[in-house]
Amino acid sequence: MPIHPAVAAKELPPEPEPLPLPVIDAHTHLDACGADTPAAVAGAMRRAADVGVVGAVTVGDDLESCRWAVRAAGWHEHLFAAVAMHPTRADALDEEARRTIESLAQDTNVVAIGETGLDFYWDAAPHAVQEEAFAWHIDLAKRLGKPLMIHDRQAHRPILDVLRGEGAPETVVFHCFSGDAEFARQCADAGYLMSFAGPVSFTNARDLAQAAAIAPLDLVMVETDAPFLTPHPFRGRRNEPFALPYTVRAFAQIRQIPVEELCRAVTINTERTYGISVING
Ligand SMILES: [Zn+2]
Ligand SMILES: [Zn+2]
Repeated sequence: MPIHPAVAAKELPPEPEPLPLPVIDAHTHLDACGADTPAAVAGAMRRAADVGVVGAVTVGDDLESCRWAVRAAGWHEHLFAAVAMHPTRADALDEEARRTIESLAQDTNVVAIGETGLDFYWDAAPHAVQEEAFAWHIDLAKRLGKPLMIHDRQAHRPILDVLRGEGAPETVVFHCFSGDAEFARQCADAGYLMSFAGPVSFTNARDLAQAAAIAPLDLVMVETDAPFLTPHPFRGRRNEPFALPYTVRAFAQIRQIPVEELCRAVTINTERTYGISVING
């Protein structure tokens, strides 16, 4: 997949000050960042490692990008993949697509089934179609014993309802967590992980900041969701894994803890959740 046309013309943010301890970008889309060849992947991973972002999970959101993500994970020791049909493309999850995703998902470099879930913002597919597709991915995660990586856009409660109805897999991650403190509490009670992206740094995201402040430290991760959601003060620019430190620092400030403490926690959580060893091997 070439670089996403909406971001191709945009400038990257400046390189942040390196983090004091290494972290992993728990959710990104390297193909949409334009890093679609082995050399380009190596470059993006090098730029990230230079500032302490030493690993990443690249996420496929349609069949082509799922195939690509699995291939790319084989190109770099610290790059992993997640595969699913994105909820905005739930209409495309036909029998053949299910067979393809199921077979890709068995690759050892695939560390999660995602991103799946519900997107009631774009509403690109009818809710019943999205819910059936989500249920299928939940079942796949359970059958393969892999974590479920959830995309939740304006669908907090319906997602909890589907998880309850189907029976949640052992490990559930809300990628780009977007709930408030009350929703964070519900997720924490269920043992679900919350992965925070650039919006946690946005100055007008007060409800999200309150969620970030109270989410248990052993249930949080950090991610870029690049090429979108570039953190403050570079909102609107093109994102890449190397920009993650801006989000990590904003998150640590919200929690009023040292950056080192947050880095240590999110790295342990990400390695445990995805069964990978980049740092604590
Ligand atoms: Zn998403
Ligand atoms: Zn994503």
